[in-house]
Amino acid sequence: VGVFFRPLEKIAAVVETYPRGIAGFQRYQKLLAQSPDIADAPGAQDAPALSGRIRFEDVQFTYDGARGVLRGVTLEVAPGETVALVGPSGAGKSTLMALVPRFYDPTGGEIRIDGVALTDMTLASLRRQVGLVSQDVFLFGGTLRENIAYGKLDAGEDEILEAVRNARLDTLVSELPQGLDTMVGERGVMLSGGQRQRVAIARVFLRNPPILLLDEATSALDRATEREVQAALARLAVGRTTLIIAHRLETIRHADRIVVLDTGRIVEIGNHDTLVSNQQAYVALLG
Ligand code: ATP
Repeated sequence: VGVFFRPLEKIAAVVETYPRGIAGFQRYQKLLAQSPDIADAPGAQDAPALSGRIRFEDVQFTYDGARGVLRGVTLEVAPGETVALVGPSGAGKSTLMALVPRFYDPTGGEIRIDGVALTDMTLASLRRQVGLVSQDVFLFGGTLRENIAYGKLDAGEDEILEAVRNARLDTLVSELPQGLDTMVGERGVMLSGGQRQRVAIARVFLRNPPILLLDEATSALDRATEREVQAALARLAVGRTTLIIAHRLETIRHADRIVVLDTGRIVEIGNHDTLVSNQQAYVALLG
């Protein structure tokens, strides 16, 4: 299966995630190394509740001012649509995703959500409406409840319990000695990778953003756990505009559309069946 299914581990979250180990730390630094000019533009307004129509219009991006990492990406994602981004390493998948919460601004072209340019919205009002889940999940020393409520600090008990169920954490909670009040992290119960991911998922459920960015990971989850995480993610994506850096065939197959990127350009778009019958870049990636 080759490069297509290699874990893609770049998008870390502003709120949901944090480094685990050196590799995680480097990814995190890389992602948060946003350009210094990312700030509210003069006259930026708070975005209203967004429906999540994302329009990339001839988007260009370069990190070093020389090499084009994105070279004219035009794509419209409909509210509630799930789009899988695939392509070889270095194609620009993480970069394209990182532009949505404005970790970087395009160096050419424009991104609009619901018709409003990202630069016309305040950063806080934009980022509130974008949820991110990657495999680097930050848990702080505190109770499981506090770690989940981190997604929405004023959440009520009912909302937290619903997020726990939606994220399929209820079995874990029922097995822990003090349930949601169990200490986790450094000084408490160490959660497995799959459990941590579900904490990240619960945080996003609580916050309920219209836009979801997923950096799918296959790393080190046993099959049963992976199924649980996948089920929770599938549920999380329902009704949200979702961009996934995908490497599981199952995820890709179920995406509304698959965007194949190569060296900063979209080379193919379609659903799985269409792309298979095209016999072009997608099929080559599948190997
Ligand atoms: P992968 O599948 O390996 O995760 P990708 O398709 O997500 O790759 P990007 O991570 O977007 O690709 O990288 C696109 C190009 O930009 C690569 O050549 C990469 O080395 C470069 N790049 C990514 N992040 C940075 C950065 N922070 N500074 C400089 N160059 C970067």
